[in-house]
Amino acid sequence: MNRRKITLISCFLLSMAALFACTPAQKKESANDLIVAQKKESANVGQVALKSWKEIDYRLPNVPHRQQVQSLSQQFPGVVIYKGNSHLKRVALTFDDGPDNYYTPRILDILRAKGVPGTFFMVGKQAKSFPDMVRRIVEEGNAIGNHSWDHPKLWTLTKEQVTQEIVSTENEIQRITGRRSKLFRPPYGRVNPAEVVLIHNLGYRIIDWSVDTLDWKGTPAPTILQSVNKEVSPGGIILEHCLAGRPGELNGTLQALPQIIDHLRAKGYKFVTVPTLIGQ
Ligand SMILES: [Zn+2]
Repeated sequence: MNRRKITLISCFLLSMAALFACTPAQKKESANDLIVAQKKESANVGQVALKSWKEIDYRLPNVPHRQQVQSLSQQFPGVVIYKGNSHLKRVALTFDDGPDNYYTPRILDILRAKGVPGTFFMVGKQAKSFPDMVRRIVEEGNAIGNHSWDHPKLWTLTKEQVTQEIVSTENEIQRITGRRSKLFRPPYGRVNPAEVVLIHNLGYRIIDWSVDTLDWKGTPAPTILQSVNKEVSPGGIILEHCLAGRPGELNGTLQALPQIIDHLRAKGYKFVTVPTLIGQ
């Protein structure tokens, strides 16, 4: 055997040794990867099966709220509404999360003094705590809507829990006022198609908004006024609040409200309730 042959055989043997040395490890790694991938896949499938009606991808926080609502209103025309008729110069003022016994009566005083109706989307437990305020809201010609029992993130709840949130609030409203609401505003304005179907089957239209004052952040009156003037258009639904998370939080709302009314009236707008705005 010459030197060349020996070298070739040595190389061949070394290559085979290297191949056998590596292959099982690689195979093992690949198999592990596959098992992990399969486990991941089955976990995902399980999650989808569990939450299929929630349509997980819809909940991605980076999908802008307005974009979601506009797409839902196209998918469910007349059911998901964020604006009224854009050919009529009318707007609706809406107040969420109440009633309470501080901001709500002050807002009602302003509305009454200006001769303007509002629409109050009530949280059931607040209605239960302040039934007199609920009655006053109705007696003074304002409209009411359902805003869940305790303002949960609907996407964390089951169908049964979502139903319970709405039904218990409606029962409370009916117990106090003798009326039922046909409007529902989801907490945080967030719903997905499956929830829309569920809520509509309970007898509601879903009301969002076209102008967000962001008053709940403690926004000062001039900023609120500025955003209303900038964003308002015929058929607009303006979102404000009547329950403060911390003291003084809605002082901007109180200060801005008379000015909003005066400014929009000067522009030729008429104020109506949401049921009137959407022709209910
Ligand atoms: Zn709310």
